[in-house]
Amino acid sequence: MSDLKNKRIITVATTGAWPTKENTPNVPIEPAEIAEEVYHCWKEGAAVAHIHVRNDEGKAAMEFDKFKEVVRLIRERKDCDVILNLTTSGGVGLKEDDRIRPFHELKPEMASYDCGTMNWLHSAVFENNPQFLERLGLLMQEVNVKPEIEVFDPGMIYNAQYYLKKGVLKAPLHFQMCMGCAGGIAASVKNLVFMKEAMESVAPGSTWSAFGVGAGAMEILYATVAMGGHIRVGMEDNVLYSKGVLAENNMVFVKRAKRIIEEFGCEAATPDEARAILGLVK
Ligand code: ZN
Repeated sequence: MSDLKNKRIITVATTGAWPTKENTPNVPIEPAEIAEEVYHCWKEGAAVAHIHVRNDEGKAAMEFDKFKEVVRLIRERKDCDVILNLTTSGGVGLKEDDRIRPFHELKPEMASYDCGTMNWLHSAVFENNPQFLERLGLLMQEVNVKPEIEVFDPGMIYNAQYYLKKGVLKAPLHFQMCMGCAGGIAASVKNLVFMKEAMESVAPGSTWSAFGVGAGAMEILYATVAMGGHIRVGMEDNVLYSKGVLAENNMVFVKRAKRIIEEFGCEAATPDEARAILGLVK
């Protein structure tokens, strides 16, 4: 394992809660489609796969059996050592117990931890109430699942500081700066610098990753690479590869991220390098 300082972790978020086959026929929805896409993204350089599933109608869901099937199909590929990161939101308005069950029983190496409540896309409350966040953090510790602390605005970084002090979260923390979601902070370099500085002031020694949705996607991608962060790409965040052009699949995003990382003079981390960077115990 060469110098980890020059390694950048690519997380691929293939599916998310929102894009439908009507938005893009290329989004993987069925468990077999998701597992296949994750495998090919790993081959292209993704070290982490952030997983959502859908119900039989293609809608956002936390259906345990679907997660179980995706995880089984990925783990079945013996050559594939990608790090699994299961969502604990699934979408908005889903039941807390259902949000917890997949990571608690399937024990991926990571799971998302949305560190506050927000008005999601001016349409619904994305609820992560204090009692839920305490329960979530402690249950993740119980089953040795590393939280990926998703922050949609600076207030969520300060929430993380509170849960770190309280022992609900344990250092070193890993943040995902989610930029440009309506209801959260806009995707700009200036905002990313501010978010990173806020993170460093409350939890020095944390690792971090970022992505921008929509028009800010490329700005955040390039800035993150330049600022030393890890990156997340995929159809959860963007169905367009460039203006007016639908991405053919998730692999094209991974390939582009890898090219940008390499042009900058770094390398995409392998899953084992990512484990070392994130302090995951395999
Ligand atoms: Zn997600």
